[in-house]
Amino acid sequence: MFRRAITLPFKLLGIPIRLDMSFLLVLPLFAFLIASQLPAYVNMFASGVSADKLQQGATPFLIGLVAAIGLFSSVLIHELGHAVIARLYGVETKEITLWFLGGLARFDEMPKQKGAEAITAIAGPITSILLAGIFWLLYRSVNDSAALLFILGYLTTTNTALAIFNLLPALPLDGGRVLRSLLALRWPYLKATEIAGNVSKVIAILLGIYGLLSTQIFVLAIAFFIYNAVSAETQYARVSEGLEHLKVKDVMTLEPSTVYPDMPLNQFVRLMFYKHHTGYPVIDFDNKLLGFAKLQEATQLTESSSEDPPSDKTVADIMKPAETAFETDNALETLKRMATSQMGRFVVLNNLGSMVGIVSKTDLIKAIQNQGDLASNLKTG
Ligand SMILES: [Zn+2]
Repeated sequence: MFRRAITLPFKLLGIPIRLDMSFLLVLPLFAFLIASQLPAYVNMFASGVSADKLQQGATPFLIGLVAAIGLFSSVLIHELGHAVIARLYGVETKEITLWFLGGLARFDEMPKQKGAEAITAIAGPITSILLAGIFWLLYRSVNDSAALLFILGYLTTTNTALAIFNLLPALPLDGGRVLRSLLALRWPYLKATEIAGNVSKVIAILLGIYGLLSTQIFVLAIAFFIYNAVSAETQYARVSEGLEHLKVKDVMTLEPSTVYPDMPLNQFVRLMFYKHHTGYPVIDFDNKLLGFAKLQEATQLTESSSEDPPSDKTVADIMKPAETAFETDNALETLKRMATSQMGRFVVLNNLGSMVGIVSKTDLIKAIQNQGDLASNLKTG
């Protein structure tokens, strides 16, 4: 979603902070809007204090800018509130992005413990309420500066509004996450997401109608955002649900070609040309897995001897220990493991430790992609 964003040169709590282009456009716009309504705001927050000096020259815009930066910093602290609690559940935040509708914290994964998503989600609005409280105390302790009174009053109000808005029970807002997490205490996660998704769509439509009738573009934009994001959220839940049930045995190639350790290397290299596999499990005459032989190693030997593979060499000379997966292993977890391994293929074993197949990175990626297509068909169908 945020392809054109800049990353700030520092991290907060070890988390990279990114500013989306839409944020960089909306910040001066906010500053301008605040500045243009300054007299009304000053009346609201600093009545009785002389505010004539605030109206001169560039002062309104400067005050507007400080207020806008304060607002977006508040949004950032709200997101950090989520990040701190997620960390307690062992989940790291990849990055926090500020954009024109606020902030988004991207987690490595959602905390899986029961109710953990609710606690992580509610941490944001609670942070905003605490911030509002701090700004309110500061506001109460100032009595002569109209500029300070305005900024502190403005931040008290906006942080309160931020907390209330985020508590709307619509995904992907915090309130929607709380709702989903609570529903998941009773129903399976996917079912909970679908129920929360339907609630969210109703809220988005109501917000949209309200935005249209009251001609509030910002409310309309939020309604669109919720409606689109909730579809993505449900689809994501379907895909991960499908992937949770996808096992290595659903994906693997049965009865793979195998080689014996005493096969001469030049024969091994020729085998590659008509079978088109680049690696083979090596087994003994009792079908016991001994290791794995790859074309790459065979050709390396060939190159160093500047002709055909040396006739005295056999598969045993290039064989490496095989990496294995069990047929009941999760497909996605196996793909993750393969990504960090030197091997592009794992030998698949059954519970008794006998070889039943072979699985490659391509097999896994294809199956996972199909699962994704299935999910989007479900969504449109
Ligand atoms: Zn939040």
